[in-house]
Amino acid sequence: MKRILIALFIVMVVVIVSLLLAGVFKRPAPDTQPVTTEPEAPSVIIVLDPGHGGRDPGAVVGDILEKDVNLEIVKKVRELVEAQPRLKPVLTRTTDVTVDKLERIQLADEVGAALYLSIHVNAFDDPEVNGAETWVDDTRSPGDPSWLLAESVQDALVAATGARDRGVRSQELYLRHTTLPAASVEVGFLTCPKERAKLLDSAYQNQIARGILKGILDYLDTAGVLDQPGETTAPPPD
Ligand SMILES: [Zn+2]
Repeated sequence: MKRILIALFIVMVVVIVSLLLAGVFKRPAPDTQPVTTEPEAPSVIIVLDPGHGGRDPGAVVGDILEKDVNLEIVKKVRELVEAQPRLKPVLTRTTDVTVDKLERIQLADEVGAALYLSIHVNAFDDPEVNGAETWVDDTRSPGDPSWLLAESVQDALVAATGARDRGVRSQELYLRHTTLPAASVEVGFLTCPKERAKLLDSAYQNQIARGILKGILDYLDTAGVLDQPGETTAPPPD
């Protein structure tokens, strides 16, 4: 009996010492991110394009460059889009760099964007001319979702800012080089002194951003993009 107790004691000591040694010599576990096992609805990618940039200033009024105003507004839109649970914004530029127009839409195609929205401020000879307008490439057929995108953004932008509604228009645009739903919004005129003051005002820029977000959400809702997990309106590549 005594021998069994001694044997048990020795076994216990060996086990305890082994455990202690294992603890001492154990290498620290590598920093691993916890793996999310819950399936997540994939993000809907929204490509936002601050018009111009780098060598191309866009409209120039005194020392105000369109490219800078565009970028300020787009950064505000990005913040709002980012806060939406299903949406992921991708910008064609985040700094003052030259980016070719075709590269911008190629990026949108490559990331599998649900839509492409270019954002500009306008200019005209007559300083009285003011208001917002949204453009669609004129080769888009009447059933193309670009029209719905343009109308949604135009309506929500005008409602959010009270800017004069110059409507949805069409002309030949580089947007014809993508099949994505695509539009280009001109949020106001830098050449109109009264509107220029607003366009440079951070609070008004926030109103513009809220309007554009609302337009994007209205479009996604009407087009049913958010109802289709795993799918966007992006067509398969050719
Ligand atoms: Zn422009």
